[in-house]
Amino acid sequence: MRIDLHTHSTASDGTDAPAQLVRKAAAAGLDVVALTDHDTTRGHAEAVAALPEGLTLVTGAELSCRLDGVSMHMLAYLFDPEEPALLAERELVRDDRVPRARAMVAKLNELGVPVTWEQVARIAGGGSVGRPHVASALVELGVVPTVNDAFTQDWLADGGRAHVEKHETDPFEAIRLIKGAGGVAVFAHPAAVKRGRTVSEAAIADLAAAGLDGIEVDHMDHDADTRTRLRGTARELGLLVTGSSDYHGSRKTCVLGEYTTDPEVYGEITRRAFGAFPVPGAGGA
Ligand SMILES: [Zn+2]
Ligand SMILES: [Zn+2]
Repeated sequence: MRIDLHTHSTASDGTDAPAQLVRKAAAAGLDVVALTDHDTTRGHAEAVAALPEGLTLVTGAELSCRLDGVSMHMLAYLFDPEEPALLAERELVRDDRVPRARAMVAKLNELGVPVTWEQVARIAGGGSVGRPHVASALVELGVVPTVNDAFTQDWLADGGRAHVEKHETDPFEAIRLIKGAGGVAVFAHPAAVKRGRTVSEAAIADLAAAGLDGIEVDHMDHDADTRTRLRGTARELGLLVTGSSDYHGSRKTCVLGEYTTDPEVYGEITRRAFGAFPVPGAGGA
């Protein structure tokens, strides 16, 4: 039984539509695939409708979290997608762009810069507004000569005077919300150093004490030594160990089923979850 518990579709930053993704998963010889788009369950319905016979879909999402200034990802499996508290948190993370840009405008106003929200919105031209648009407004106003000059500590760079951080969920809160929605929480690629700072072993122990179910160990961003170390951590803390491709279509080089999860661990995940159930493929369109 081949089980891949972490993939992305066009519902977030993958390049395969959900229907394409499940067809490719079946063609790749997978028996179980989890669809875990960033902060959304938008792709689930299409994946279910297209699910080939012989392939089981585990519904999920990958939640953007931050612990002590370190960004991290939490995989959530088989939660109730309608559960209001977790749904509200996913929307808050996803729909953060406008409030964030507005908050940057407010900070600039406090610094005496007469930028307005209308100006920033006009520059964004109906597209999803972001920091570069605020930067362009500063150029328009003659505050800085170029957009790059706006990305400094004086203005909009990370930690700068007018910078506003993205909303990311506290992982302890994420675990509470996932469990509250009947789901299972697995810390994604906990030691992916390539992506930036990672959380400490002590923090993983704290998360385990708070109800974390497992850690993703077999992942392309972990080398062999890291995987051995994380397996030890999981054993010590009584955490489940998962493996996955973190497939993004052509956005990344990994292939479906590149790493997989042990069937016993998968069984345990399905036993713990009560928010949703794995969907067996009926040979969809
Ligand atoms: Zn991730
Ligand atoms: Zn991912």
